[in-house]
Amino acid sequence: MLTIPRAWREKPQRYLFKGGKCKDCGFVTYPARKVCPKCHSENIETVDLPREGKIITYTIVYSAPEGFGDFSPYPLAIVELTNGARLMLQIVDTDLDKVQIGEKVNVVFRRLLVEGNAGIIIYGPKATVVEDK
Ligand SMILES: [Zn+2]
Repeated sequence: MLTIPRAWREKPQRYLFKGGKCKDCGFVTYPARKVCPKCHSENIETVDLPREGKIITYTIVYSAPEGFGDFSPYPLAIVELTNGARLMLQIVDTDLDKVQIGEKVNVVFRRLLVEGNAGIIIYGPKATVVEDK
């Protein structure tokens, strides 16, 4: 895709991809939580998350919630990052037939939604399927 605004290419560090890792059991969440959902520890440290992962499962969303309308239909996937963290990400810039369980993805930062009439644009992580070359 050639539509990525220049600022994103030049300043990838603007979009920090950090999660929370439980120091007691190692469970990683995105976004970080104050309490580990697995062992209920509050001993959480902030960690950089890898930007590579694979699709665990996915669904195609045909009826998007308000603010997402211009994206539908779109694939929504559970992605497992290389450190084992799982998160739900919209798959972008990928043909629907390329979205398959087990496919490798990269995390990218894209417009997440436009907030109401104020037009505030929120950016967040999404994923693209890595094409085999
Ligand atoms: Zn834990």
